[in-house]
Amino acid sequence: MPRTDVAFQRCISPDCGATRGIDEVLVACPECGGLLDVAYDWDRATPPTSLRQFEAKWSRRSEPLCFSGVWRFHDLLPFAPPECVVTVGEGQTLLQQADHVGRYIGLQPGRLHLQYEGMNPSGSFKDNGMSAAFTHARTTGAQRAACASTGNTSASLAMYCSVTRLMKAVIFIGSGKISYGKLSQALDYGALTVQIAGDFDDAMARVREVCQELGIYLVNSINPFRLEGQKTIMYRVLEALAWEPPDWIVVPGGNLGNSSAFGKAFSELRELGLLDHVPRLAVINADGADTLYELYEQRQLRWEGGRPALVTACQYYDELDREHRKASTIASAIEINRPVNLTKCLRALEVCDGVVRRVSDQEILDAKAQVGSGGIGCEPASAASVAGARLLRQQGVIGADERVVCILTGHLLKDPTATVAYHTTDQEQFNQVLGSRGVRRASFANRAVAVGNDLDEIVKAIRLYS
Ligand SMILES: *Cc1c(COP(=O)(O)O)cnc(C)c1O
Ligand SMILES: [Zn+2]
Repeated sequence: MPRTDVAFQRCISPDCGATRGIDEVLVACPECGGLLDVAYDWDRATPPTSLRQFEAKWSRRSEPLCFSGVWRFHDLLPFAPPECVVTVGEGQTLLQQADHVGRYIGLQPGRLHLQYEGMNPSGSFKDNGMSAAFTHARTTGAQRAACASTGNTSASLAMYCSVTRLMKAVIFIGSGKISYGKLSQALDYGALTVQIAGDFDDAMARVREVCQELGIYLVNSINPFRLEGQKTIMYRVLEALAWEPPDWIVVPGGNLGNSSAFGKAFSELRELGLLDHVPRLAVINADGADTLYELYEQRQLRWEGGRPALVTACQYYDELDREHRKASTIASAIEINRPVNLTKCLRALEVCDGVVRRVSDQEILDAKAQVGSGGIGCEPASAASVAGARLLRQQGVIGADERVVCILTGHLLKDPTATVAYHTTDQEQFNQVLGSRGVRRASFANRAVAVGNDLDEIVKAIRLYS
């Protein structure tokens, strides 16, 4: 029977295709256990007839829903009435041309743009999704919300809870894996912080059980509403490029929520006739957490019209377990071996003719230093996109004259430990933080100059070095 609501939840498997109402709190298909989409009956909604229509909202920025970089695109995520929307002003992010970084990647001037999602209120792109998940949680009357986190999801959840006072935050983190910038946010915002003895993949498994047991609303990216908010990152990129899609979107891959959301955004825009071609998508793993690379590029796992051979993934996970292999990278935000959105990401790679690459921690940190010296800066995981674009350029997959947008997912100040260790003169500190990750050199270090407390010495040093 066709549904009569504008929005509903639908299993992504075409063999199952189960649908549920928007009012149900689900993190998996009740029929087959697969992932759910938020789906729309566009004939009943009021989608725009042209993307340019969104520009009119700029003149109404005193209205919170026009000010928000997520909700100004409400017509493309119409799952909640305007009065239920939760916004703290997320999505005021920047797309900047970055020729210095473009040169490092091997692109011609004017061809690289960096999308700074670190400009969000909690300092990462997660706010785009949290605003949407929070909105849904509110419509269901949830009192508590939880997540497992490598840091940024918890910072975002804790912030939405502290600003809106609508819910209490419970966050699960693995041991010793979270950067201080992120942990300090969760603690300061007053979230109940549960540190479990295990890594992110363990924390993820436990939080699902706990939410089930205690009826807590789960805001990890298996929550389909999260991804609705994250679609808007692509709308803002398009808007900043005057609605002319770039050739490539390059994004780091962790739990694969972003890449999945981007693919959904583009396939919907195409379905609505609002975009005639979609960019190609490159998802970048870290060497030490390269499940998507292994499955997609090495073992040829594909979407296959919604029937991916998931046994390939299960075999790989068994291998990881047998060999006791745990995810390990300096890019802690993508230190994930069992990405929960794997199948949705396969669909996105299909929609966007995608590729997957992996880069080393050395390449990530060198790329990060380039982003810092030629732009606003980012945290390590974000720089995987720049390192990945460089690799794809070297491989000839990306052409020197193609238009590339790298998504910088988190703010520079999220992980000062990694940044300072990279630029330090203290070999011990370098080795402690980075050496154990196989990082051998700081190719673009900007070292502090040590001088005595003496005017002549200081003047001499400035003359010498500047
Ligand atoms: C969460 C996060 C990622 C990973 O994004 P996914 O959607 O899980 O693939 C990358 N970078 C930063 C800074 C993050 O916080
Ligand atoms: Zn199903």
